[in-house]
Amino acid sequence: MKLLLIGPPGGGKGTQAKFLVSDFNIPQISTGDMLRENVQNSTDLGTQAKEFMQSGNLVPDSIILEMMKNRLLGQDCLNGYILDGFPRTITQAEGLDILLSKMNHKLNFVIVIDVKDEIIIKRLSNRRSCNNCNRVYNLIFDPPLDKEKCNDCGNNLFLRDDDNPKTIQKRLDVFHSQTKPLIDYYQKQGIVKTIDASDTIEEIKADIKRKLAS
Ligand code: AMP
Repeated sequence: MKLLLIGPPGGGKGTQAKFLVSDFNIPQISTGDMLRENVQNSTDLGTQAKEFMQSGNLVPDSIILEMMKNRLLGQDCLNGYILDGFPRTITQAEGLDILLSKMNHKLNFVIVIDVKDEIIIKRLSNRRSCNNCNRVYNLIFDPPLDKEKCNDCGNNLFLRDDDNPKTIQKRLDVFHSQTKPLIDYYQKQGIVKTIDASDTIEEIKADIKRKLAS
């Protein structure tokens, strides 16, 4: 199964991707996680990406496409994957189409997570992440047992640099102007399933399952 999740920052893509990982036993490929890992390890890629990320802008398409070209060649991608946060521009989608056709792969479905900006702003400012195991919490909707520590690995939780009100607004603007046009792009391929993500995590999960089976 080859899936792509499109949705605004904080729309719950990462959370739902993790459920799909265990349902289909395929890897989640999150460009955001890959970039943050590079920033944390101060790699060349991380150094190039850092400022774009901190300001809420997109990292240039050429950097992302090169990173994804290598990632999709991984042995773990042979049976499928869940693309989370990539592509984010039409140029990236066109680049992905070229990569997929070279690999003889085809996306099965594009899941569009639909949620209003007001809900996003509330969710993101209460988001806390673990930079050890990448688990994500929400202090209101899905709180950790101890508000400063990860339930799974005990690491300290942190508020991402880009989860501050000014950068959240910028990331939403970027989503509307650069990423939303992808919905039309994939609608033309007839593979879009739209999910109303203003419900609870469990309801969204069930809706995705229903729509993938229909
Ligand atoms: P995310 O964790 O998916 O919200 O991504 C965090 C940040 O990483 C974004 O605000 C961008 O700066 C950068 N980023 C992640 N994925 C991409 C992508 N496909 N294209 C460009 N920039 C990206």
